[in-house]
Amino acid sequence: MASRRDFIKISALGLGAATLSGSVAKATTKGVFGTDKLNKLMTTRTATYCEVCFWKCAGWAYTDGAGKIKKIIGNADDPHCNGRFCPRGTGGVGMYNDEDRLKTPLIRVKDENGNQTFREASWDEAFDVIAKGMQKIAKEHGPECMALFSHGSGGKFWGHLLKAYGSKNISAPSYAQCRGPREVAWIGTFGEGLGSPEPTDIRDTKCLVLIGSHLGENMHNGQVQEMSDAIDKGATIITVDPRFFYRCG
Ligand code: SF4
Repeated sequence: MASRRDFIKISALGLGAATLSGSVAKATTKGVFGTDKLNKLMTTRTATYCEVCFWKCAGWAYTDGAGKIKKIIGNADDPHCNGRFCPRGTGGVGMYNDEDRLKTPLIRVKDENGNQTFREASWDEAFDVIAKGMQKIAKEHGPECMALFSHGSGGKFWGHLLKAYGSKNISAPSYAQCRGPREVAWIGTFGEGLGSPEPTDIRDTKCLVLIGSHLGENMHNGQVQEMSDAIDKGATIITVDPRFFYRCG
C-alpha cells in the first residue's frame, strides 16, 4: 500500500513528465513546483480546472511569453486537490498540445471508392449540418426521438439544446452504472443524496473497506490523499477485489 510519501513521489513523477525545461527539472521537487518559482518562470497564470476526470480539481495554467501553455498545477485553495494534481491531470498539458488533438469539426463523407472518411469543416458548416439533421428528425419522427447519452460538463450544453429542441430523453452512463443507485439508496436511507464528489471522511477513518473499487486505482485526487493520510495514521484498509477471485480444482 502506498504511503503518503509514495503518493507524493508518484505525483512528482507525473509532474516531471510535463514540459519543464532542463535546469528547472534538476531542482528538488519541493523547490521546483512551488508557485513562487513558477510565477517567476512563466509570464501568465490563469485559473482553470482539470476535467480529465469528474473530480474537477481547480488549478493554474502557466503560459510562456508566446502564449503556449507550459504547465498546469493544482490550486492550493481547492480541497479536491490541495494544490496537487494527480499524474493524469498533470499530463493535461500533453493532451492539450497533442498534435493529433481534434481542433476543427470533421464531416463524414464518402471517398471515390465509396469508403467513409472525414473532411475538415468550419464551425458554421458543421452547425448547419447538425441543425438541418435535427430539423429533419423532428419533422419526420418528433423531437423526442432524439436522445442524449453524455458524460462530462461538455454534455450540459447538449442537454440545454435537447430540452429547447423538445426532448427530455437525456441520460448519462455514469448515472446508470454508479451514481444513480448510490444516490437513490442514500435518498431512501438518509433523506438526501450524496452529490459528487461525495463528502467522505477518509482521513480520520480507522478501517476503510473497498468493495469492487480501489481508490488508489481510481485516483480521485483528494480521496487518495486522504487515504494516504489515513494509512500514515494507522488505518486498516480492506479491499474486496473481484479480479483476485479464482476457482480452485
Ligand atoms: S483527480 Fe486528477 S484527473 Fe481528476 S480532475 Fe483531479 S487532477 Fe484531473
